[in-house]
Amino acid sequence: MPSHDPHSHADLTQARIRHLDLHIEVDFAANRLRIVAEYLLDRPATGPLDLDSRDLDIASIEAGGRRIEFEMGEPEVVLGQRVRLLDLGGADRFTLSVTTSPHASALQWLEAHHTASGRHPFVYSQCQPLHARSLFPCQDTPSVRFTYAARLTVPKGLTAAMAAACTGREAHRDLEVFRFEMPQAIPSYLFALAVGDLAFRQLGPRTGVYAEPPLLEAAAWEFAENESRLAAAEALFGPYAWDRYDLLVMPPSFPSNGMENPRLTFVTPLAILGDRSRMALIAHELAHAWTGNLVTNATWDDFWLNEGWTTYADHRITEALEGPEVAGLLQAVLLDVLREDIRAFGPDSPHTCLKTSLAGIDPDAVFSRVPYMKGQLFLLSLEQAVGRLRFDAFLREYIRRFRFQSLTTEDFLAFLERELPEAAQAVDVQAWVYRPGLPERLPAMRSALYDEVVRRRRDFEAGALPSSAEAAAWHPYQRILFLRLLPPTISIDDCGRIEASLGLRTTKRTLELYEFLRLATRSGYAQVWPMMEAFAERVGNEYQLKRVFRSLAEAEWSRPLTRPLFERVRHRHHPITEGLVDQLLRELGV
Ligand SMILES: [Zn+2]
Repeated sequence: MPSHDPHSHADLTQARIRHLDLHIEVDFAANRLRIVAEYLLDRPATGPLDLDSRDLDIASIEAGGRRIEFEMGEPEVVLGQRVRLLDLGGADRFTLSVTTSPHASALQWLEAHHTASGRHPFVYSQCQPLHARSLFPCQDTPSVRFTYAARLTVPKGLTAAMAAACTGREAHRDLEVFRFEMPQAIPSYLFALAVGDLAFRQLGPRTGVYAEPPLLEAAAWEFAENESRLAAAEALFGPYAWDRYDLLVMPPSFPSNGMENPRLTFVTPLAILGDRSRMALIAHELAHAWTGNLVTNATWDDFWLNEGWTTYADHRITEALEGPEVAGLLQAVLLDVLREDIRAFGPDSPHTCLKTSLAGIDPDAVFSRVPYMKGQLFLLSLEQAVGRLRFDAFLREYIRRFRFQSLTTEDFLAFLERELPEAAQAVDVQAWVYRPGLPERLPAMRSALYDEVVRRRRDFEAGALPSSAEAAAWHPYQRILFLRLLPPTISIDDCGRIEASLGLRTTKRTLELYEFLRLATRSGYAQVWPMMEAFAERVGNEYQLKRVFRSLAEAEWSRPLTRPLFERVRHRHHPITEGLVDQLLRELGV
């Protein structure tokens, strides 16, 4: 356990937050949360206590009826502002009143016309990695865990949801109060709330889904198998520790595919396709309940422990439910995405190491698939070195031993040396963890579904494309892989033929569309423009938007159109996404 996290002002030798009692008033007129929070520490505190904050207006801090003096540090771009409570005088609890900024980086406030029903406003939080500090002062490091109770006051007619158990709801004249309890300790980045016109549908004894009423029916159908997914995951990783597994379908501007908020995964509405084909996404967010939420990275430099283990675990769930052929195909797609991300950073970039050194760097700005897929390949190499039986015992012991704890990479490697020494011997651990790029020896991966796409790629060289009927029968990941394996640019004619045979003009599958839009842009296929506009407007995924806008800025024909398009759609997106795309376009000179 480190004494310091480079992305937090918290001093981990000081007392730690153990529990929070929050009264949160949601003010849609001012786009602000007004919060009164009682903090309980793990021990009486004397001397300074340092917390993180960003753009917060702190009115007062009190302990036992006594006013506590505090100092605000200088605002820093990545870290925000340190709040130093000068001396708690031996108290182990204090109360703080704070108001968030309308520009709080954790929150997106949506006007009614940006929601599915178009009738009510919506607000939601995204705290990972460094945004909880824009909600309330906290030790905003994954090394500190706390439980909480919250009381949310919202305008009448709206529903509040949190990544916690809802324990009550009372109506007042024009307000409604929702009560929540989170009995399992979480790091601050897993704190989550959403308020909007939400309805709930039970899917199974422990599973359910929240969505805006117009989406509820389709969402309930799409995710109906979540209960059996939960059972499959428990069979692999041990008992589920979070009581319920519900989903919350987000507005389209949600910046990622999913966020593994405990008890309540936030998921993109773009996963509702009417064919249950985005199940790998649910497998991933569900797997986080063990690898990530239960065993957490100590700092964001150890992020691969969270995402690498979760990608390994989601692959195991997919394999159990859909078979090794589909799981192997998905591996092939992810490996190709990983190679692209490594190429983009440059093969010697430190951002391609599993263990990173991001002091002074915003983790959002260098987000990539490296911790996910390189981490998974490393774990798969360990598995293949000792066999699955032995590795599964190791995996279960890892989860059992470190549940509700935060680990550094070095803690993990020490555990590996001790518990699985023959794997640590057989695999080049140093190269996987501390060196950039990919080691030469990769774990073995096989899938006939993959081989078929490779054959089709060869047929394309000879001028033959799959027919519409053939492409329609493919697994969605085969279509994605086919698009990815094509040359970086193809002829305008081929763009048109592929668009037709894969039915891309009318598809709802944004993963395929994302691949095609970039290929078509690079190839100079200007007919793609209306599809590009619709995508930039409708898809909130930050990873995809950044890469789509990069392709637009880099192609000669679309470069002059890039900035005007961004200016037209930017207000639809999450402030984190908007800021990152804006920064990217500036770097690219548009
Ligand atoms: Zn994840």
